[in-house]
Amino acid sequence: MEIFHISAECYPMAKVGGLADVVGALPKYQTNAGHKLRVVVPCYDTKFRNENEFEYVHWGSVTLGNFEFPFSVLKETTDKLGYELYLIEIKELFDRPNVYGYEDDIERFVSFQIAALDWISGRKIVPAVINCHDHHTGLIPFLLKYAYKYENLREVRTVITIHNGLYQGWFGFDKLHYLPEFDLIHVGFLEWGNSLNSLAVGIKCANFVTTVSPSYLNEINISANGLESLFNSVRTKSRGILNGIDIEVWDPSKDKMIIKNYSLESSEIGKQKNKEKLCEQFELDPSKPLFSFIGRLFEEKGGDLLPQVSALALSENFENINILILGSGNSVIEDQLVQLRNDYKGNYNVFIGYNEELAHLIYAGSDFILMPSRVEPCGLNQMYALRYGTIPIVRRTGGLRDTVIDFGDDGNGICHDQASVGDICYSVNRAVKLYDDKINFNKIRKIGMETDHSWERVCQEYIEIYNLIIEKNEI
Ligand code: ADP
Repeated sequence: MEIFHISAECYPMAKVGGLADVVGALPKYQTNAGHKLRVVVPCYDTKFRNENEFEYVHWGSVTLGNFEFPFSVLKETTDKLGYELYLIEIKELFDRPNVYGYEDDIERFVSFQIAALDWISGRKIVPAVINCHDHHTGLIPFLLKYAYKYENLREVRTVITIHNGLYQGWFGFDKLHYLPEFDLIHVGFLEWGNSLNSLAVGIKCANFVTTVSPSYLNEINISANGLESLFNSVRTKSRGILNGIDIEVWDPSKDKMIIKNYSLESSEIGKQKNKEKLCEQFELDPSKPLFSFIGRLFEEKGGDLLPQVSALALSENFENINILILGSGNSVIEDQLVQLRNDYKGNYNVFIGYNEELAHLIYAGSDFILMPSRVEPCGLNQMYALRYGTIPIVRRTGGLRDTVIDFGDDGNGICHDQASVGDICYSVNRAVKLYDDKINFNKIRKIGMETDHSWERVCQEYIEIYNLIIEKNEI
C-alpha cells in the first residue's frame, strides 16, 4: 500500500529528538515489508539539504489569510534512505537553520500542512494512509475530512502518532481563517479548552491514534496537559506501540562515528577504547565508571535534577566516578551545569549543544546512561545505550518502564520510582557497586546488548493498524 509519513522532523534531514529517529527509520522498515513509502518534511536550511541532490516535482502557493506563500516540493534523488523523501520548500517560513522556536511557528506548520495536502491532492494516485506525527501535523486528519478542496482525498485513512503530548500546537480562533474553507458545522472538532488545539484536532479526527509506548498510553489517560478526558474518550481507537531503533544506524560493530567498533564478544575492550577517547577529550579518568546524560535539558527530562545529582554524587563518591553531560535547553540548567566544571575538574564535564557524533561516542564509551525523566513517552537513549553495552539508569515512567527492568529482577538496567535527587543518587550508588562486581556487570551488559529493539518486529504493528482502519472503511 502507499503510505505517507508527514512530520516536522526526519533523520538525517532534520533532527531535534526522537521524532526524527522514528520518522527516519520506520518508513525504511515498512518499505522492506513491501510497501511504498513517502516521507514529507519542511525544507529547513540543514546540512543534509545543502549536501544532497534534490529535484523539483511540484510548485504551488498557500494562502494564509492575507498572506500568500509560494511553495515547491523537492524530491531527494538517490533513494538512499530506503524511502522517498520529499521536502516542502516555503522559503519565507522554513529557510532557517532550526526546526522550532520561531514566533511564527503556527504560520510555518499550518502552511506546511496545507502545502503538503495541496500537492498530495494534485497527484494521480490517492495514498491509502497518511501517518501524521505530533501536533505539527495534527490538522491534517481534519482537513482531509472536511476541507472542500481535499474532496478527492476523503478516502485516505489517517493515523496520528503521539511522540510527545505535552506540546499541542495551540492557537487562537482569530487565526481560523488560515485554514482552507470547510463547512462550519464541523468547527467544534478544532476546539479544546477555548483555543484551537492542533493535537486535540488530530486525536479527534484521525482514524487511529498511536502513542510511542504502551505505558505512555496508560499515563496520558491520567496526565496529559489537559487532554486526559479526550484520550479516555478515544481509547477504542488508540494503541501504544513501543518504538524500535534503526539497527543499521545504531550498530556498534559498524558505527563510523565511534573510535573502535565492537560486538558483544569484543565489547569490553571496544568500549574501553571509546571510553579512553571520551575521557581524553573531556579530561576525565578512564579507570573510573563513566555516567553520562544525553538529551534536552528540561524538567520533563529531569534536567533540573542533574546539577544537584552531579554535585552530590561527585562529593559522596569523589574520585570514584566521572559524569559527562551532553545537552542543551533551559539556560538556568545549562549555567548550573557549566558552573560545576570548576568544582569537579577531572571527574565532571559538560558539552552544551547538539552533537550527533559525540552522542554516538558517548553511547559507546560510557558505562551507565542516566535518564531521570519525569515524562518519557518512549525514550530512545536507553535502547541505543543497551545496544552499545551501556547500562541505563532510569526512572520508571512511560517507555522507560516498558524497556528497562532492574537487574535485581534479572533485568538489563537500574530503575527507581521517583524523579528525585535521593532516588537518582541511590541508583548511582548501586551502579558503582555493580561496576566493581565485574561478573554481574558484564552479565547485565550482555543482557542489554542481546535485547532486540529493531523496527523489523515493530513495524508490522503499524501495518496491522493501517489494515484495520482500511477494512473498517469509516470516513
Ligand atoms: P526526545 O524526547 O528528546 O525526543 P528521545 O529519547 O526519544 O527523546 O530521543 C532523543 C534523541 O535525540 C536520541 O537520538 C538522542 O541521542 C538525541 N539527542 C538528544 N539530545 C542530543 C544532543 N544534545 N546531541 C546529540 N544528540 C542528542
